[in-house]
Amino acid sequence: MGTIDIVYRLGPGCEVDDIIEGHIYLGKVQGFAPFGTFVLLNDRVKGLLHKSNVKTARKERDLILVQVNQIRSNGNIDLREIQLPEGSYETQFVTKKIMISRLSDLKNKIGRNVTIEAVVVQIKQTSGPTIFTICDDSGVEDAAAFSEAGVRSYPNVNVGDIVRIFGESNRRNNKMQIEVSNMSVLKGVDALIVHERINKAIEARAEPPNIVPLINSPVLDSLWQEMRKLAKIIRRAVLTQQPIILRHHADADGVCAAVAVETAVLQFIRDNGGDPEQDTFLFRRSPSKAPFYEIEDVTRDLDMMLKDSVRFGQKLPLILLMDNGSTEEDMPSYKMTDVYQLDVVVVDHHHPDETIDKYLLAHVNPYHVGGDFGVTAGMLGTEIARLINPAIEAKILHFPSVAGVADRSEAPELDAYLSLVEGDYPRDKCEDIALALDYEQYWLRFNDGREIVKDILNLNNASKRHVRLVTLLVTEANAAIEDQMNTMMPHVTDQVLQSGAHLFLVDVEMFAHRFTFPPPGKSSGEVHDILCKRYEHQPVVTLGLGPDFAVIRSRGVKMNIPQMVRTLRDEMPGAGISGGGHLVVGSIKFVEGMRSEVIAKLIENIAEFRVDIL
Ligand code: MN
Repeated sequence: MGTIDIVYRLGPGCEVDDIIEGHIYLGKVQGFAPFGTFVLLNDRVKGLLHKSNVKTARKERDLILVQVNQIRSNGNIDLREIQLPEGSYETQFVTKKIMISRLSDLKNKIGRNVTIEAVVVQIKQTSGPTIFTICDDSGVEDAAAFSEAGVRSYPNVNVGDIVRIFGESNRRNNKMQIEVSNMSVLKGVDALIVHERINKAIEARAEPPNIVPLINSPVLDSLWQEMRKLAKIIRRAVLTQQPIILRHHADADGVCAAVAVETAVLQFIRDNGGDPEQDTFLFRRSPSKAPFYEIEDVTRDLDMMLKDSVRFGQKLPLILLMDNGSTEEDMPSYKMTDVYQLDVVVVDHHHPDETIDKYLLAHVNPYHVGGDFGVTAGMLGTEIARLINPAIEAKILHFPSVAGVADRSEAPELDAYLSLVEGDYPRDKCEDIALALDYEQYWLRFNDGREIVKDILNLNNASKRHVRLVTLLVTEANAAIEDQMNTMMPHVTDQVLQSGAHLFLVDVEMFAHRFTFPPPGKSSGEVHDILCKRYEHQPVVTLGLGPDFAVIRSRGVKMNIPQMVRTLRDEMPGAGISGGGHLVVGSIKFVEGMRSEVIAKLIENIAEFRVDIL
């Protein structure tokens, strides 16, 4: 004959679908009927050997070679007996053809067994089953495995492993869940193939939509690629169940930036089957008092995330810094994040220091492309929010205007953003919202105040309450500011510098209400505003002096505060100087015992900056 016959052995789990007509199988006699013999091909697939096709006498449990004549449409299998001499054939094992289901398809397969290939992104031990959160190329779902109440199932499976799960698709508390019958870790090429399939799909799904900025702006156009990159990192974090910690400056601009992204991310999580209200670890927004990532903040974040990582098997988070993160002052915290190899991305409009870039995955800052602080964090945040989830655009369209007036932007971008919303949010309304945000954030301190802030920003579909709340907060804030100004203004001292600039000094410690709104920085700003009006078209510098700090506000002077602070620090090694901020608005800290020396030196330095003719 020349060719060797092949005899197939049907493996466990194989079904009729796995049988091929004409193939020869090794079967086992199950029983007899008047019309023929029943033969099992495995423990569940059975065929009939019609008595006309029987060649030898058999008894139950005898092994027998059979060829499949026909598979009928009702699933019945007709067999005929084959006799082959020992050694004249080869045996091949038939394994079950596995149909891999996708997680997005579970809802269509409720009550049925499915096989899933996915990466494990979280493992949580409950008092009952172990919950494995898994992610494939279509989505994220939970798989529950139970061996004993409160005991970790499959202890060999770790976060990051590629697994094959066999189990029943079910709905539990309105969420899909697989009840695991078997789970195995894929290794080698098998794992690599699944890994690449998932990565490729997530890469594609993380790609932001093809949109352009809301306004015409060369600065935004030049930043667009980096903003897309940053939005993609955030989208990928959501798609892979990586927690996101958003740290932002606790002022109106920072709040606008952060709430825009928060709105986009929470909706994106929901759109992808997640529940951010239940899984609060997925996204957390925390205001920071300083306009940089302080050691205290990074320490608190690290403490919490590392405990959660151990306790709940979570991934380490993506850290997103908004309206802070660009400056040299962030360096000590980045050295901490670097130890734990955390992913950090920054959206800021403070003057950037390039030494920090090596710690960042993406860094959006208008100074990188010839822009300045006038393109504020709130503007950048709103555009990035659109790139994360364009569906929320209408809700946050006024955020750039609120942020712009809050940070006193003089960039043309502010006018362009204001014209987008001029009907509903004219400039004075944006100023009110900005003041209300600053006032309320002062009392919220480091809480995100999510729902109150949403009411102030009119995100809650309760415009009546929004109007009442903003009106109240603005009235209270203005009364507090007025009281503070009445107290402070009589104590302002005045001098004219050799540069021609007016320099005003006011002691915010001795001659201002403390531990209330407005705080020293804002109080100094308000004093500065009054003086700027009084000395129209003239260069003005205002210093709000505390016991160990000074707040610097200026107009019409070509200042570079971060540079000046560095110079002073080098010149006065025993003064403990630090600080920075924007080029013309910032602060400096020092030790109390060197107060008068530092202030004298500070004034000397300020006198050297050239003035603008206004
Ligand atoms: Mn800002």
